[in-house]
Amino acid sequence: SRRPLIAGNWKMNGLKADGLALAKGVAEKLKADKLACEMLVCPPFLLVAAVAEAVAGSGLAVGGQDCHAKVSGAHTGDTSPVMLKDAGASYVILGHSERRTDHGETDAGVKAKAEAALAAGLSAIVCIGETLAQRDAGQTLDVNKSQLRGSWPEGGNAANTVIAYEPVWAIGTGRVATPEQAQEVHAAIRAELAAMIGAEEAAKVRILYGGSMKPDNAAQLLALADVDGGLIGGAALKADDFWAIAKAA
Ligand code: 13P
Repeated sequence: SRRPLIAGNWKMNGLKADGLALAKGVAEKLKADKLACEMLVCPPFLLVAAVAEAVAGSGLAVGGQDCHAKVSGAHTGDTSPVMLKDAGASYVILGHSERRTDHGETDAGVKAKAEAALAAGLSAIVCIGETLAQRDAGQTLDVNKSQLRGSWPEGGNAANTVIAYEPVWAIGTGRVATPEQAQEVHAAIRAELAAMIGAEEAAKVRILYGGSMKPDNAAQLLALADVDGGLIGGAALKADDFWAIAKAA
């Protein structure tokens, strides 16, 4: 009963013309062929407003890739969740491993951003995931549970918060998690969520897989019991590939 979410994280890719063409391409397909899943694109900040305007009415949702924990103020270079909402976004990705690595983001910081996002009326997509060294050391489930507990927003529920499990070693590497690896972690995340917010609510929370999801491996990942969609990087930059993944959901 969880509606799958197929989300494209464009990362730092796409100039105005390409980004608009990509988003419009997906929106056109979605208008012609309503899918069982929900679809979302998360362009760079500068394109959020234009993309939201271009796809309005198509059913394609638009999100940001980060936001600040404050609504406004003296924070040069930052973007507030209220601004994202105002630009037409309904989602925001938070705590992606690239931001945790490149910008030193912590669980507590991600939690604060997620709470600000919810307060602004956005849904938060909170990213967690272990590194290869942590997996090799047998710490995978502990790391994910700890990031989940630390990053989950107060007031988070199945309607406003999505978890994305993205094993760092699978991001942009072409090395996708096996179905067994993905299901094991997704089930552990749901069990931990049940302890945090109750089993009934945890059963409704969408847990996305991210990391080298492509048209040729999407179906088997999306068929797993606790995988409720995908957070897609590279393959979301081509409308046909992104659409093929959504069709598999
Ligand atoms: P890739 O699909 O390019 O591996 O990226 C995954 C990701 O990080 C999505 O947020």
